Amino acid sequence: MTEGLFLFNSRTRKKERFVPIKPGHAGVYSCGPTVYSAQHIGNMRPYLFADLLVRALKAQGLKVTHVINVTDVGHLTDDADAGEDKMEKAAAQSGRRAEEIAAEYTEQWLVDRRRLGIPDPDVLCKATDHIPEQIEMIRQLEAKGATYRISDGIYFDIAKFPRYADLARLDLAQQEGANRIEEVTEKRQSADFALWKFAEKGVQRQQEWDSPWGVGFPGWHIECSAMSTKYLGETFDIHTGGIDHLPVHHSNEIAQSETALGIDRWVNVWMHEEFIDFQGEKMSKSLGNVYILQDLVDSGLLPLSFRYFFLQAHYRKQQTFTDDAMAAADRGYRRLVAQAQALSEDGGVDEQAVASHGAEFRAAMNDDLNAPRALAAATQIVRDESLSPATRRALLTECDAWLGLDLLTAALPQAIQEKDPRIDRLVAARQAARQAKEWAEADRIRDELAAEGVTIEDTPDGPIWRRSEP
Ligand code: AMP
Ligand code: ZN
Repeated sequence: MTEGLFLFNSRTRKKERFVPIKPGHAGVYSCGPTVYSAQHIGNMRPYLFADLLVRALKAQGLKVTHVINVTDVGHLTDDADAGEDKMEKAAAQSGRRAEEIAAEYTEQWLVDRRRLGIPDPDVLCKATDHIPEQIEMIRQLEAKGATYRISDGIYFDIAKFPRYADLARLDLAQQEGANRIEEVTEKRQSADFALWKFAEKGVQRQQEWDSPWGVGFPGWHIECSAMSTKYLGETFDIHTGGIDHLPVHHSNEIAQSETALGIDRWVNVWMHEEFIDFQGEKMSKSLGNVYILQDLVDSGLLPLSFRYFFLQAHYRKQQTFTDDAMAAADRGYRRLVAQAQALSEDGGVDEQAVASHGAEFRAAMNDDLNAPRALAAATQIVRDESLSPATRRALLTECDAWLGLDLLTAALPQAIQEKDPRIDRLVAARQAARQAKEWAEADRIRDELAAEGVTIEDTPDGPIWRRSEP
């Protein structure tokens, strides 16, 4: 592979060298969360992935503008414009204001992102703050004759956009046949999608606005087109999202944007990340098989251990979450941090060795963000005794600017430790023996644990135990 950062482009289905539209700058838009409930760890994968991308672009010396939206209106329970508005539904069920729910879960998402080492985006834009921009784009579409009105809203007519099927290689005829059997609607084609939905008569919505077409709310897809264009311009470099967005949401975004703006190529590189599965299915709110980050923390795991877990799979591969895999990632992360932090500043930095020994790591990053390969390279570097500790530190600092694991500076909280009921019981028994001044018994238990590699440290908050590193 030649010089530069290579990224897999869903649009061309190829790994391509990244060439920014504007030299020295990269504009990135990532589809953000729908904030009607807590974001689970599956939901965090798109943002870990986008962070990995942004860090790799910065490692190329590019200035990056990263824009993420927050969907706080208009996302219906079915991505294809059917069902209820997720925000309104959550508000009705809880008796709360939709804005209040949105604010709570936006904050939870931001806090969890930060705990995972993800910096805040340069622009964080809410759909409800950009209603005029969305109305304006729908007007442009209307002026181009790409819309039509039916009883529940204004729709985009995909027949007016011949490239509609290109991004996801859709078989529209087959899709049309399959969907028509199930639903008979007023839509001209089953893939047509809502731009503006009318507020239903007799239903009191919390979130609705006036528009040239009547009171209602924007369809979900239009917000991403309107806001990305506002903040990144009429064409921009990279658009990211979950793999589920490819056939509907992103195909719709392209149709709207390219038609409204009258351009051939709105976005150069489309990137999609695969799902995290759990218990044999996609981890998802609707299936109920979810953990949020706090659940992991409550069971004694470190937030950055989840980042480490994420880095163990390539973003385009489906990843399976299990409690055991997560516990192993937690041990692996702690071990890597402990080894990195045990390195002294001795031996001076050998710049030549930094250049040569960093090559594998850099190649991994530039090969479509190959994080598992980069993680293996970092693990190798930390143990490479042919290099001085100071050289290894310099290399790890470079690796970590991309991996974001805080390898040299993370404070491993002593109080957070693995859970093991048997060891917990033995440690408690030793503590009881100490309090009863039964020193021989206390020592016997300590020795028994030491024989299996478990050391106990007595702290003002009580004893904590740790397995010694292999
Ligand atoms: P939502 O808040 O449901 O709109 O989801 C936000 C993002 O998370 C979308 O880009 C989804 O593609 C993504 N997502 C949801 N569940 C998972 C999962 N189990 N693994 C990876 N990504 C997911
Ligand atoms: Zn989007």
